Amino acid sequence: MSDRLPGFSTLAVHAGAQPDPTTGARATPIYQTTSFVFNDADHAASLFGLQAFGNIYTRIGNPTNAVLEERVAALEGGTAALAVASGHAAQVVVLQQLMQPGDEFIAARKLYGGSINQFTHAFKSFGWNVVWADPDDIASFERAVTPRTKAIFIESIANPAGSITDIEAISTVARKAGVPLIVDNTLASPYLIRPIDHGADIVVHSLTKFLGGHGNSLGGIIVDAGTFDWSTGGKYPMLSEPRPEYHGIRLQETFGNFAFAIACRVLGLRDLGPALSPFNAFMILTGIETLPLRMQKQCDNAKAIAEFLAGHPAVASVSYAGLASDKYNQLARKYAPRGAGAVFTFSLKGGYDAGVSLVSKLQLFSHLANVGDTRSLVIHPASTTHSQLDDAAKVKSGAGPDVVRLSIGIEDKEDLIADLEQALGA
Ligand SMILES: *Cc1c(COP(=O)(O)O)cnc(C)c1O
Repeated sequence: MSDRLPGFSTLAVHAGAQPDPTTGARATPIYQTTSFVFNDADHAASLFGLQAFGNIYTRIGNPTNAVLEERVAALEGGTAALAVASGHAAQVVVLQQLMQPGDEFIAARKLYGGSINQFTHAFKSFGWNVVWADPDDIASFERAVTPRTKAIFIESIANPAGSITDIEAISTVARKAGVPLIVDNTLASPYLIRPIDHGADIVVHSLTKFLGGHGNSLGGIIVDAGTFDWSTGGKYPMLSEPRPEYHGIRLQETFGNFAFAIACRVLGLRDLGPALSPFNAFMILTGIETLPLRMQKQCDNAKAIAEFLAGHPAVASVSYAGLASDKYNQLARKYAPRGAGAVFTFSLKGGYDAGVSLVSKLQLFSHLANVGDTRSLVIHPASTTHSQLDDAAKVKSGAGPDVVRLSIGIEDKEDLIADLEQALGA
């Protein structure tokens, strides 16, 4: 063996996996079991008391899921990861470790519509208060910090318009405030951006999108960067204080630079219960093996299609950070030099009606609410994913009434362009 560190594509295929020790199976088996036999009573007690690592029950951990966790931790450059049932479950589990009732977290205004909903309404009933800031105005994050701020949440590439967030600048604000920076890296995937390299403390994903990549399985994951000191000032009692559930151990003291991932598992996943099915973990692992190939092709296709649309007479504007003329192009060159992602928006001169008409005429593009599939997808955010927002908030989050969102797949770009041409022209 050479002492070379494996590259990204090698990790995408191999990290976390080895031939099955009992059968020799080369693909990671689906360990479709709820529970695992203990060696003896002492072994059982040590697993329950967190004195030993091992499998107990699939709600808390599963060997198929463990391969997925190790692989995504390796791709993101984190110390450990925890797989959960969906991207939204990942967000709940992360914030449960950080927030007490009455606490605040600051979130970028440009987010996936479902996250805006979850933060505004569902989290309010837990007493977790979201304070919005503008990712294009770093000072707005600074102004939002109060003594009750416990975290900052942003997307690396923001839904729906594919805008690029200045992760390093916002991480500086988080450092100064003494709170962790959480980055939702769903739209970029670690192939395009590794937020931990730019100062993120926690990375979350909807595995449902580019990592799984085939539009067939829901999943979410939390990656611990191992960078944050949870012990200061009693601000994060879930991590720093003795846990009555586990004979009074302190997670940060016991688990050091992967304490956050452990907290998410043993306090979050165990008690809230959003476990990922090992079958879904298998599907997503299989998807991740081709992530670098898919993502590159999707970015290349997206750029060609954005250029085509920018030159079309029916199109008013295209928002794609990969275009040299785009206001996020500078940030794209810095953070995502391989490509600016495969999700972007454009607006039509004909407004809302033209958007609705376009969606109905497209044949190769599927009209549905998802991104990051091998297939190309289209949606009108204002009437669907962002419909819960008022008009001003729609415009602020990049989902005005005339905006159409595309997620570009791995088909031949000439076929995608031909489909858009017939739908725009007819
Ligand atoms: C889809 C999505 C989520 C939510 O993930 P689910 O797996 O659908 O729960 C969160 N963030 C972003 C950016 C997404 O695209």
